[in-house]
Amino acid sequence: MDAFPQAESLIRARQGRATPARLRVLATLLAAPRALTHHELETALGEPFDRVTLYRVLDWLVKERLAHKIAGDDRVWRFNAVAAQTHPHAHFRCTGCGKVFCLENLSTSFALDLPTGFRAEHVDLTVAGRCPNCA
Ligand SMILES: [Zn+2]
Ligand SMILES: [Zn+2]
Repeated sequence: MDAFPQAESLIRARQGRATPARLRVLATLLAAPRALTHHELETALGEPFDRVTLYRVLDWLVKERLAHKIAGDDRVWRFNAVAAQTHPHAHFRCTGCGKVFCLENLSTSFALDLPTGFRAEHVDLTVAGRCPNCA
């Protein structure tokens, strides 16, 4: 599926400028079946991509909540974009291959059921285990 039209409408909905760099990075993230490291993203983009531009684009996408980043076990950030970010979702980290997947259908809202006096600012739920490839 071509993710470019989707990326363009998401960026425009945020009143952002749909630059070629933003479009390419967001479309690549939308099309990726899992969260990607900088290195994997560079590979997925195909043609060489200026590294500074890539960092800036990722910062902007995260700031605008068009993409999100997940810390892996190895302290390497992974990036992904999901079309409908209506709720925070859980992640799955494979202990075999180290790949990180978005579990878009697994809401983390239960984690917000906190005792009186506690206020959540951020929920980061990662399930560790084996992905279908490594099971
Ligand atoms: Zn795996
Ligand atoms: Zn995710």
